[in-house]
Amino acid sequence: MVAGSGPLLPAVAAYLKNKGADVVLIAEQAPFSRLLKFGLGLISLPGKIFQAIGLQRQLVGVPYIKSCRPIAAHGEEKLTGVTLRQGEKIWHVDCDYLACGFHLVPNTELPEMLGCAIENGVVKVDHYQQTSQSGIFCAGESTGIGGLELSLAEGRIAGFAAAGNQDAAINIFAERDKHKRFARMLNETFALRDELKLLPDDGTIVCRCEDVTFARLKNQRSWRDAKLQTRCGMGPCQGRICGPATEFLLGWGMDSVRPPVFAARVESLTNPE
Ligand SMILES: Cc1cc2nc3c(=O)[nH]c(=O)nc-3n(C[C@H](O)[C@H](O)[C@H](O)COP(=O)(O)OP(=O)(O)OC[C@H]3O[C@@H](n4cnc5c(N)ncnc54)[C@H](O)[C@@H]3O)c2cc1C
Repeated sequence: MVAGSGPLLPAVAAYLKNKGADVVLIAEQAPFSRLLKFGLGLISLPGKIFQAIGLQRQLVGVPYIKSCRPIAAHGEEKLTGVTLRQGEKIWHVDCDYLACGFHLVPNTELPEMLGCAIENGVVKVDHYQQTSQSGIFCAGESTGIGGLELSLAEGRIAGFAAAGNQDAAINIFAERDKHKRFARMLNETFALRDELKLLPDDGTIVCRCEDVTFARLKNQRSWRDAKLQTRCGMGPCQGRICGPATEFLLGWGMDSVRPPVFAARVESLTNPE
């Protein structure tokens, strides 16, 4: 089962299916009305329509259920099934694997460590992709999630601007603006519904690295307090998973980034192939 929210759910489902998985369904939390508006908005972006059609072809026979979210996963040693909710309807589906992700969160750790300003969760940049730090440019998902074409356009602008060729950069502004529309559509369509804040119960593990349950977090005052009192966010992922979750569930903001920003295996550094 693939569940959560965002354009990557069908992409992941298609990937799994191509690898031989029997995908029982895709559960998308966004409502039908928003998805319909999103689909109509794609008319001005033919490239995206072709991508969507390509995915749909690969997913023939896989139900795509809107306004639907997983509310419990079952099994002891291994997953055996998932309980789903759509409005007032609650039902159980057998499955042995659940891929669950609620939309996308930009990685801003490196720019944050370089002192670049962050606004609304993304790196703040000007028209030339220049950050608040002189001489540091940023492009791609760190400046907002918008897909491949937007990242490429931003990267070219940043490259030209960094090399002092502002005129060449300006020539790509229109292309970037077109793809930025897609980014706005993504954010509107897949914005998380407030009901999702009711998903965790006291026993739900929010910080998987340190096994911290929601019960231990809900009475903390801030991310810092939670770290001090419960070790939330202090395991190998350093809050990359539970940080955005607590931000959504409890309204906290992570207050610092420390190196290394990602745990990396020595093997990856010595043998990148
Ligand atoms: C499964 C999947 C399917 C997708 N399908 C589509 C699609 O059909 N259409 C579409 O438009 N978009 C799609 N996307 C999204 C698309 O891949 C991204 O929008 C695009 O790759 C973003 O480019 P980027 O340069 O910002 O980030 P990335 O391509 O992710 O590149 C970032 C690079 O930085 C490296 N990095 C990160 N942090 C560090 C660090 N601390 N130190 C060193 N290196 C670091 C990473 O290893 C990575 O190589 C898909 C994404 C996924 C995951």
